[in-house]
Amino acid sequence: MSWDRIIGHALQKSILRNAHTADRLSHAYLFTGPAGSGKETVAFELARLLKCREVSDSARQDACGTCENCRRIDDMLHPDVEYIFPVESLLLERIDPGKTENKRLSEARARYDELLERKKKNPYFTPFMERSMGILSEQISELQQKASFMPSGGGKKIFIISQAEKLNPSAANKLLKLLEEPPAHVLFILVSSRPENILPTIRSRCQVLKFSRVATADIERWIQDTCPDIDEQARRIIVSTSRGNLERVLDAVHHRLDGEEPADIALRSRAIQLLRLILSPKRLQETLGELEDMSRNLSRQDIVTMLSALLLFFQDVNRRRIDPSWSDLNNPDMETPVTRFVANFPAADFMAVSSVTEQTIHALRRNANPMLTLSGFSIELKRHLTGVR
Ligand SMILES: [Zn+2]
Repeated sequence: MSWDRIIGHALQKSILRNAHTADRLSHAYLFTGPAGSGKETVAFELARLLKCREVSDSARQDACGTCENCRRIDDMLHPDVEYIFPVESLLLERIDPGKTENKRLSEARARYDELLERKKKNPYFTPFMERSMGILSEQISELQQKASFMPSGGGKKIFIISQAEKLNPSAANKLLKLLEEPPAHVLFILVSSRPENILPTIRSRCQVLKFSRVATADIERWIQDTCPDIDEQARRIIVSTSRGNLERVLDAVHHRLDGEEPADIALRSRAIQLLRLILSPKRLQETLGELEDMSRNLSRQDIVTMLSALLLFFQDVNRRRIDPSWSDLNNPDMETPVTRFVANFPAADFMAVSSVTEQTIHALRRNANPMLTLSGFSIELKRHLTGVR
């Protein structure tokens, strides 16, 4: 049942299982594919299979999920499974043992632990420390040292390197040396959504396994199988707002099960509220206040999520306008607002609206100033929706 926990990727899973059965696993893999597609969960599942003490079903090559090794891997505590991701350099500085730990360091440690906790809760989450300069040379030196020891319980020592495109140059060169003469007991799994930014010499030493975005039908089926309490409508909302990103799918599922409004749905409501403000006459001051609040208090990713929700909403409105009987909405719970919008804005130019929204998302991803970008967006949006300058 272990591989079944992972959403989608039947082909990749069977390639790895078969390689393991035939004892032909490569010493280094590079898992590539879009962010949020679940590459790392497959890496961890392979680690579990290799370390599990009681593979439950040898024909299916499934880790039991309950033995000590399986549990330690889930808790990120297995000595033979190392997980490397970009951290702040502060965490790697040599500390004088005589000195008491300073505040900055303990704060950085707390941030690191928090990311690992989040990863344990949501295996699709990709941890990244905001102040990190990438995967640093010291991290690979440490890895080098660990790789030189034999694994504690026999078998393989597994290094999962997350966001391998962020290896800084000297770290990448150190890793390359290891890949050139890999110790027999070591398995490297590099994971990257931007493999083009990895040194070609590193890439060529790894067996590349490509992952694609998981199909909507697979996500829906998985939710249905694992959380039968979530009804069809909620399931469809989760699938449409996550846009194939499994980290968000799992977050939304957790929220639902906890009886809370999923974060994405809350952001969508806020986006629709903003749209109302923008389109209301004489509410300019209020609109500006809301934009300022968003720029200040929401993360860039949250603003992008909001704009993506608007994009899906506009798509629904446009389809409904072309075909009033259209029922396969992205947001099946928003039928009434969609119908009202069609009636209230007959002059809307949805091609222009979509393109302005897409451009705004791109600009925000490229670090544009949120307040300026959102203000410009609001003006353009109003013009294209109402046809009034
Ligand atoms: Zn096990």
